[in-house]
Amino acid sequence: MSGRKKPQKRRGEFRKNRSKDPQRLDLTREVQRQGLDHAADLPTDQRISGKGSISRFRTIISEDDQQIVRSINEGSCIAGRVLTSAGQTCQVRTVDDRLLECTVRQVLRRVSRDERTAVVAGDLVFVLPVSETKGVIERIEPRRGTLSRQNQRREHILVANVDQALIVVSADDPPFKPALIDRYLISSSLGGLIPLICINKADLVGPPTLQPWIGMYSALGYQILATSTHTGYGIENLRGKLQQKSTVVSGQSGVGKSSLLNAIQPGLELRTGDITKETRKGRHTTTLAQLHELACGGWVVDTPGIRQMELWQVNSRQLPGLFIEFRPLLHLCQFPGCTHSHEKGCAVKFGVARQLIHTPRYESYLKLLSDLQQSESGTGYTRR
Ligand code: GDP
Ligand code: ZN
Repeated sequence: MSGRKKPQKRRGEFRKNRSKDPQRLDLTREVQRQGLDHAADLPTDQRISGKGSISRFRTIISEDDQQIVRSINEGSCIAGRVLTSAGQTCQVRTVDDRLLECTVRQVLRRVSRDERTAVVAGDLVFVLPVSETKGVIERIEPRRGTLSRQNQRREHILVANVDQALIVVSADDPPFKPALIDRYLISSSLGGLIPLICINKADLVGPPTLQPWIGMYSALGYQILATSTHTGYGIENLRGKLQQKSTVVSGQSGVGKSSLLNAIQPGLELRTGDITKETRKGRHTTTLAQLHELACGGWVVDTPGIRQMELWQVNSRQLPGLFIEFRPLLHLCQFPGCTHSHEKGCAVKFGVARQLIHTPRYESYLKLLSDLQQSESGTGYTRR
């Protein structure tokens, strides 16, 4: 006996939602095809990244990777994290605090599904130092989940091992919009990220104004805090939440994202906001994802071009399940396929009437539902 593990069956998709969605099915085929092209003779097994109930992200682990893992000389290598990766080289911060310009061992590129993303920002790696400033990446640790951009039905991994999404909104100026929080919460959940809600500009309204909202989201189990970069209120609290985590920052322009990060660490600047605006207009951005290190420990992930805050790939049938407090009621609706908007015998509407569901959350739901329905009937899922 060789002792070699029996090759695992390669599965193309993991769907928790049974509703049919032609676009996703096409994507599945594409992934399967690509997978076979790229790794025809590699027995692989797939793992869904564990966070979030409907995570679309997954990690591919192949036995070949594991063989490489076994063969490297750990004594001569050092662990580190990739801060940014561009083409053939990447920047790695090692655990002994060196900053190394690294190339990637060719065999790692070859076994990767996509050579361009063999190594991405956020990857945990083992590096063989070759000089004071240079090294070679010998091993990439399995990813805990990735943020990707879908381009023409191809998945392009931007960053790996992100823990949480900091959702920044403002108490005023621009006006407080709870529906936007709900939209961001859904995106985080789909991205498999733990959301952290931050209501900035708390100085512009009295604390009693924010308290009901903080109460509501806390009761739903979300982390939420209020901050003001002008008075310093809540900044220490926020810093604590970012410590030792890898965080992606999102929020409308003007809510104070840059000011907050600057308050956390002077000089920390993000490109996220502006580029996101550009992305809405133009389709492609070439700017690379980057990890900014926090002096307090942890990383802020700057991922221009990641359209994480758009409800792409959610369909209207998935939406109710993404409002966590709706979930226990969904199977109680009188009619199958209930959209919980106008139907008789709807358990969600009953929940709203009985104050089991907060009215603003239900209003957010209705708004998102109508947005999604419109876009589905407009562009649809059919191809010309
Ligand atoms: P970004 O677009 O989200 O990065 O927002 P900025 O950090 O550029 O901030 C937008 C505006 O809001 C600036 O004029 C800031 O001075 C202001 N601002 C940021 N934080 C606060 C705050 O806590 N309170 C008040 N009143 N204004 C703030
Ligand atoms: Zn219903």
